[in-house]
Amino acid sequence: MNEQHAALLHHAPHSQKPADTWARLCCEQAILAVEHGCYGVGAVLVNQAHELLCSARNQVFVDDHYNSSGHAEMQLLDTLEAEHPQQDRSVLTLYVSLQPCLMCYGRILLAGIPRVRYLAVDKPGGFTGKGLPPAWAELAAHTSIHQARVDSYWINLAEQAISTLQDRQVMRQRVLSAWRGTLQP
Ligand SMILES: [Zn+2]
Repeated sequence: MNEQHAALLHHAPHSQKPADTWARLCCEQAILAVEHGCYGVGAVLVNQAHELLCSARNQVFVDDHYNSSGHAEMQLLDTLEAEHPQQDRSVLTLYVSLQPCLMCYGRILLAGIPRVRYLAVDKPGGFTGKGLPPAWAELAAHTSIHQARVDSYWINLAEQAISTLQDRQVMRQRVLSAWRGTLQP
């Protein structure tokens, strides 16, 4: 991690809020995603004993390939399902640095994750759960997705990771290039 980015984590205020530990890890993953040329989003899964089960970051651009499903939550749930098949999902909480999108919202429901706490609100892209078909609404009724109660420092850093720490225009152009089949290394 570069020095400037590391300082953002290092200068965080000390807080007693239990979720701040997970907020820090989400932000760390988000910043690593930025450094790897991906969208600045990170996520972790935590169990009832407040232990970290797994962590992940956005990886839509890895090895110069575009992976449209490489969102942090998708990567995280891929790891859960591949590496922890015996884990009872009902005790898990998913923390993510940005409000889940439509795709990830659906995946979270299908993966049986009962609690999601996000840091930054994604006004243009976050899915609120409104307008779901009945079967999905039934799944959503058993899932609690809210903004995390954490120090505002982490909310602000999560917002920076997806905005000012990266050039969104460049990211958009890379996606458009991938769609055209002309993504350059
Ligand atoms: Zn997503």
